[in-house]
Amino acid sequence: MISEHEKMLSEIFSVSEELYKDMSDSIKETDHSKIFEYITMLGKTLSESDRTSFWKWDKRTHTLWTAAAVGAERIVIPDNTGLVGKALAEERVIITNDPYSDPDFNSEVDKKTGYVTRSVLVLPVSDVNGEFIGAYQAINKLGGDGRFTEEDCRRLSLAAVICGIALESEVFMEDSHRDKLTQLKNRMGFYSDFSRRYLKLIDSGTPFALLMCDIDKFKRINDTYGHNAGDEVLKYTAEILTDCCLENDGVYRWGGEEFIMIMCGADKQTGIDKAEEIRVKVMDSVCHAEGKDITLTLSFGVSVYDPARTIEENVSSADERLYVAKESGRNRVVS
Ligand code: GH3
Ligand code: MG
Ligand code: MG
Repeated sequence: MISEHEKMLSEIFSVSEELYKDMSDSIKETDHSKIFEYITMLGKTLSESDRTSFWKWDKRTHTLWTAAAVGAERIVIPDNTGLVGKALAEERVIITNDPYSDPDFNSEVDKKTGYVTRSVLVLPVSDVNGEFIGAYQAINKLGGDGRFTEEDCRRLSLAAVICGIALESEVFMEDSHRDKLTQLKNRMGFYSDFSRRYLKLIDSGTPFALLMCDIDKFKRINDTYGHNAGDEVLKYTAEILTDCCLENDGVYRWGGEEFIMIMCGADKQTGIDKAEEIRVKVMDSVCHAEGKDITLTLSFGVSVYDPARTIEENVSSADERLYVAKESGRNRVVS
């Protein structure tokens, strides 16, 4: 007969094992959602509760949202509502064993689903600088008298610390992979997507076209209309490139006024046609920025991915063609 204690240890061990497995395997994921799911499960085991959820606090949009709620759907709420909002606003742990008579408890979900909440524990989570970044919520203590106590709070704190670290690393990764101006992924994001996503497809024989694209005489746009207008032109170009992308394609800001597009399943001609389509679209349209009508053109270098060469060599190959497009007069596609 195994004791409750042994049962818990074995559950902790299996969650930790899954977590490790998933982290080493996480090259397939671009976010930490699976990791949050396991840590939320760890909290459920540690606090012996029926449901747990980790709420991320988005201070910019004043919302709280759960990426992984064990036993419930993903929910987004304003950050001034509910017990989670209260715990974060007051920077303290909240335990209530009589939620329906607590004015801060939101019983809407229970009314809709028929779930009965008897006890709630909310533990604010901070990052390494002590800034609150979210909160852990456990619902319905299992066993005993069904009430949460200070001890549950101490048990949950372990999962809360791991959640805090995972959230910080996720935010850090997202920030370092994305360009703030155009909202496109940057060069680091490109390499990361390449090893996580594209490489697997390349290994399975999927062809790829690489399109390297650069705004012509962009310096002149900056000089004529100002740097802010230049920024608008970059955003405008990024939008057109994104609009022309198919679901499995990727577009990235390679640097400055240079972009790279990767087209899954495309042969050389498909790549050339796409580049040509974008080139004409940009040439025939007008970017309205800073009260001015700005016209611009793009040059493209197109190559097909050669699996026998490295990703850097493949990018260079598209880049060399782009150079030829520039040298031979700009506003053209060279393959
Ligand atoms: P080419 O046709 O040969 O590509 O000429 P170009 O003027 O586009 O190329 P060049 O490399 O001479 O100039 C690129 C300019 O892009 C210089 C740089 O100041 C500007 N630039 C790079 N990043 C940004 C940005 O984020 N915003 C703005 N407004 N300008 C940028
Ligand atoms: Mg340029
Ligand atoms: Mg350039």
